[in-house]
This record gives sequence, C-alpha cells and structure tokens, in this order.
Amino acid sequence: MTTPPNPAPRGEERVYFDAAAENRLTYQTCDRCGSTVFYLRAVCPHCGGESLRLRDSAGRGTVYSYTVQHRASHPYFADRSPMTLALVDLDEGFRLLATLDDVDDVTVGMPVEAVFRPQDELTLPYFRPRAREEQPK
Ligand SMILES: [Zn+2]
Repeated sequence: MTTPPNPAPRGEERVYFDAAAENRLTYQTCDRCGSTVFYLRAVCPHCGGESLRLRDSAGRGTVYSYTVQHRASHPYFADRSPMTLALVDLDEGFRLLATLDDVDDVTVGMPVEAVFRPQDELTLPYFRPRAREEQPK
C-alpha cells in the first residue's frame, strides 16, 4: 500500500510551501488593522482588509499543547514509532500545528524552534527543543 499523494498547493498555499522549501516559515500582518494572520490568506480575517504583508518568522516559539500519537500495526504506517503533535505558539503571535522531533519529555511551555523537512513534493516545518543556552530565562 502506498501513501496517497498530497494535493498540489494553490494560491496562498503555494506561497507558503515555496517559502518552506527555502526553509522559511511565513505568516502575514494586516496593513489595515495590524493583526497577525496565519495561515496565509488573501483577506484579513479580522477586518476584511486586502493588504496583507508577507513576513518571515524566526521560527521560535513555545509548546501550547501536545499529544503523543501511537500508530496502528498496519501496512500504511511504515514507521510505527509514536509521534508527538504540538500546537506551537510562535514568538510573532500565531499558532501552528506541527510534529515535534527529537523530544522525549515534551512539556507545555517548552521552547522550540522550527526545522524544515522535505516530504514527498512538499517541505514541512517540524519543531525541536531549543538548545538550552537559547531558552528564555
Ligand atoms: Zn486586518
């Protein structure tokens, strides 16, 4: 059994995934109301403004919440090791659902940073714990 292909990104999704392929995590700010907007859109969800500025995140944030997902014994899952899915609050003020890598003891509030991994045709942001010297005091 093979994994079904990802649908091809279009519009703002294409902008997001093209940036991710360059190891950039993008979001938007609204020129009209100043709100932070994520995921990328054509119209601000807060004020309806159509002037949204594309920005690069530093890729640093903290774990808002998480769950550890165990995978069934099924041919669909080549890798059966548990995976940690987390809601990450980025320092720029948006929240992203992503996989946590290289983490054994995840905690709410844990400082993390984005890393990018090619996966089929798309590059996706993952997060890993930030090095201790980079954690906030
Ligand atoms: Zn707005």
